Amino acid sequence: MGALQYKCLNCKAGLEFDPPSQQWKCNYCFSMFSKEELDAVHPPPKTEDEDTPELDLYHCDSCGADLLADSTTSATFCLYCKNPTIIKSRFSGRFKPRYLIPFFLTKDQAMELYRKWISRRLFAPSEFKYQEEIDKITGVYAPFWLFDCKTNGTVRGKGIRVTHWVQGQYRYTRTQHFQVVRRGTIEYKKVPVDASQKLDDTLMQLMEPYHYKDMTDFSMQYMSGFMAEKYDVESEEAKTTVKRRVAQYTEKRLRDTIAGYTSYRDTDSNVMLEECEENYALLPVYLLVNKYKDREHLFMVNGQTGKVAGETPISRWKQLSFAGLIFAAVWLLAVFGGAFFG
Ligand SMILES: [Zn+2]
Ligand SMILES: [Zn+2]
Repeated sequence: MGALQYKCLNCKAGLEFDPPSQQWKCNYCFSMFSKEELDAVHPPPKTEDEDTPELDLYHCDSCGADLLADSTTSATFCLYCKNPTIIKSRFSGRFKPRYLIPFFLTKDQAMELYRKWISRRLFAPSEFKYQEEIDKITGVYAPFWLFDCKTNGTVRGKGIRVTHWVQGQYRYTRTQHFQVVRRGTIEYKKVPVDASQKLDDTLMQLMEPYHYKDMTDFSMQYMSGFMAEKYDVESEEAKTTVKRRVAQYTEKRLRDTIAGYTSYRDTDSNVMLEECEENYALLPVYLLVNKYKDREHLFMVNGQTGKVAGETPISRWKQLSFAGLIFAAVWLLAVFGGAFFG
């Protein structure tokens, strides 16, 4: 059993990760500690067996979500469907991400970004703006597969170059035909593929890019104060997605080098994936699910960069009253306008 939670070096209370300082803080005596200071006292586990995480599993019966948290964090509702009856149990499985990007944004900052975002959505239902709903925004580590791949691609096509010139009283046209071939090998590092079915793929892609300069080796201590989702998309399945992505990109890169023809058309192309190796990583997002007329609407903030994405329904009533207001204004203008200038 591994020592999971960092303890305060002064008062032994549990420590919580503090995104702005990237350190761990004690909420009782307000001390702050760096990872190096804490690792010196609580050495990280040496073997994988020692590192069996002590985690709680929160399972939602109504939507099937599974979320993991350490003892510093507890869930009282399901993040995905807002169901208040979630079942807590001890997690006993493998949970060993290779990498992680820590949270850089605090929950308060995420709530502020949400407020700004929702205030620009004129026709969003009012309940989306209630403070008790905004409070439910939660920091979650989203599971990703990061692929290191090498591709070998060929693009073939026909290029035509037409030149005109005038000499004496003659006008010349020269048409040259080219067989164009481009071959290349590209190495890709850490191409991300969302490994969660619960998190909407389109929104998750809008969270990109994540900057890998802040990526560090996974350590349980980063879990304090946050939840994590276990992956439920197997790496083989994710590999299909990544193959398509890198193949498309390889083709595009090769094609972009073809220039200087009057016209060009592809005849064939093929991309071979030579190597592809995956690593399990956790990337930070703040998540808020709003329910409206039995549909769930997601809002997300990239926990590293603060990039925002989400969707809201349109409240018909709000839209109608807005239209009504405009109508009344126009009507008033027509009546009084007529009175003044008639
Ligand atoms: Zn303390
Ligand atoms: Zn649920």
